[in-house]
Amino acid sequence: MFETNPNVKPANKKAIKTMLALKKTSFFKLLSPSSEFSMLLLYSFIREQGQVLFPQHKIWYHLIMRHKVKPIKRLGQNFLIDKQVIKKVIRAANLLPKDVVLEIGPGTGALTQEIAKTVKKVIAVEKDKNLCQILKQVLKDFKNVKIVNQDILNYSLQTTNYKLIASLPFYITAPIIRKFLEIKNSPKEMILIVQKEVAQRICAKPPKMSILSVSVQFYANVKIISYISKKSFYPQPKVDSAIIKIVPGKKYKDVDIDLFFKIVKAGFAHPRKQLINNLSKMLKLDKKELSSLLLKNNIRPIQRAEALSINDWIKLSKML
Ligand code: SAM
Repeated sequence: MFETNPNVKPANKKAIKTMLALKKTSFFKLLSPSSEFSMLLLYSFIREQGQVLFPQHKIWYHLIMRHKVKPIKRLGQNFLIDKQVIKKVIRAANLLPKDVVLEIGPGTGALTQEIAKTVKKVIAVEKDKNLCQILKQVLKDFKNVKIVNQDILNYSLQTTNYKLIASLPFYITAPIIRKFLEIKNSPKEMILIVQKEVAQRICAKPPKMSILSVSVQFYANVKIISYISKKSFYPQPKVDSAIIKIVPGKKYKDVDIDLFFKIVKAGFAHPRKQLINNLSKMLKLDKKELSSLLLKNNIRPIQRAEALSINDWIKLSKML
């Protein structure tokens, strides 16, 4: 697309050389050359390298120069550039024409467009004002997309009966998951891209539990759908990611939720220490009494908190 353009001025020869060199890189191969999104990414890549702008590419020029896009690390801006991953996310969400989807951090709209093609409505909440301007253009043909320029942690969603899809900004993965598990109108299901290690911690089983896995699995069923290479993002993050599915709606009868989490936090206070030591110290309980209570409930006092199942924690919250 670059070599044959007759309008190219000699001053742009350097830019053309750069483009041709870039075409051979794996980064460029991942992109579909015609989409606005790929232009956007390619430009920010070149701009990072301190290269010259290529004026013929009007959409690209327009999007970038007008909105001055550069991925912001602080906002966890690693954009998806792998169409196969986008397809996997869409497939995992089993989208239907009647669905309403909340997308957190739509970025430049790569995933949003694919979601909008199938569902009734997409509410796309993006914190970055510049990206919202770009989204308005990229998504102008999708009348079923509502773009909201807000921090998701301050956003109060009125809808019920919706699905949540997000390639989450890594710096606030846990607070976002917690928020959507604890609110009254939790989503029917969440399809999330998170860091691989976080995905494994969320979906862990005993003896590899943590406060995170207990907290999520108390409210929901969780599953790793697929792993994603870090090469599927631009800019490339340091670690690989995973697509996970979280289906809220687990209900435990007669569980005092505050007490449940107080005991879980006490049990994990010093994860390397034995359960009995953590619980007796943090909850100020007599060790002997506690030990016999634990044994009565088939929980070994000398094990670590990471070895307990959700049911063990529930038993503990009922007996203490
Ligand atoms: N969905 C896009 C994609 O897959 O290419 C972008 C994903 S990127 C990992 C995370 C996105 O979340 C960025 O667009 C970022 O600006 C946005 N974001 C970061 N913090 C946010 C917050 N508190 N509320 C809403 N969006 C946020």
